Amino acid sequence: MQQEVEALLALQQDDLKIREIEKQLRSLDPQLADFDKKREQAAAALARAEAAVQVEEKKQRELQGRLAQHKILQERNLHQLEDVKRMREATAATAQVESTRRLMAEDESELAILGRRINEMNAAVLASKQALAAVEEEQQTARPEIEAKRSALQAQLDEARRDRDGRAGSVSRPMLGKYDRIRGKRTQALYALRGGSCGNCDTAVPLQRRNIMAGSGQIEVCEACGVLLYAEGA
Ligand SMILES: [Zn+2]
Repeated sequence: MQQEVEALLALQQDDLKIREIEKQLRSLDPQLADFDKKREQAAAALARAEAAVQVEEKKQRELQGRLAQHKILQERNLHQLEDVKRMREATAATAQVESTRRLMAEDESELAILGRRINEMNAAVLASKQALAAVEEEQQTARPEIEAKRSALQAQLDEARRDRDGRAGSVSRPMLGKYDRIRGKRTQALYALRGGSCGNCDTAVPLQRRNIMAGSGQIEVCEACGVLLYAEGA
């Protein structure tokens, strides 16, 4: 019986080790997720900056088109002015030229403002591109490091699981089944008695059962919390 306690304790050691490696493996996931998020955010910022420039560039093209039309109109105006002979018509034609000149000046001033804004926005696009490149460069070294950590942990885990499977053979089937069931619900399934009480929940174990456990090395289930109990040094 004592052999079974030792075999179970060894198995439990393996299981705790496996659990620890699994925990370390899981802790890598958020790091990778964080990388993905950072990269996505930088890419989204770049896309927004580029879209904003496109909007302004569309305005710029429209404005340039308007200016071109005003220029054509003005040429016509100037021809008309040359052609007119009578005074009243000449006054009207001059007014037309003046009005179109004002429109053209407005177009040009709007275009200048827009040009400056587009320059600033292009600088923002460039900054976003650099930020994205920086994120990618940073991750280029960090990602493989994490992947290396992951495969090292995975190798450790495979080895620990092989060890565990080998050791499980030295525990009787019914006891192994009981142990695995309890372990499924909590971190640790097997506890030593502590001062006549359950080592997990501290509930006192009746003296008679304690005596059996101490005498034969029998493993008992705690009636209060359901873990497996053994008497040390039995
Ligand atoms: Zn208990």
